[in-house]
Amino acid sequence: MVLFLSDRFQVRIPRVKMGRNSQRGFYRRSSSLISIGRQCEPWVVAHEFAHHVDQLKYTTLQKEWHSESYYLSLLQVITALGVENYPWEEEYRQLRRWAERDGYLGTPHAPVRFRALDLCPA
Ligand SMILES: [Zn+2]
Repeated sequence: MVLFLSDRFQVRIPRVKMGRNSQRGFYRRSSSLISIGRQCEPWVVAHEFAHHVDQLKYTTLQKEWHSESYYLSLLQVITALGVENYPWEEEYRQLRRWAERDGYLGTPHAPVRFRALDLCPA
């Protein structure tokens, strides 16, 4: 999925580390590193990849992590993946608010399709 997305967005491939910790994941800007927690959740990979896209393509001045530019990057990642059931309810409140404003909330959450994506090692 990370390779697919890197190609799709024409960005360099981020480093990916499968973590041992219980954190859901994070992105480190300085080294373009996506770290995914022990419970590899596909939507978390999408979330962290959106940071990568946002940093490389859009964010030059904004220092805020979950800015509106980030939100738009996330929407593009979700669209590229063809996912219709992103779990917005798990997201940070501001992102959830924008998603609600744009009418992405309220559809029944069926995680199956998202989980079917091949991105987490077994
Ligand atoms: Zn984030």
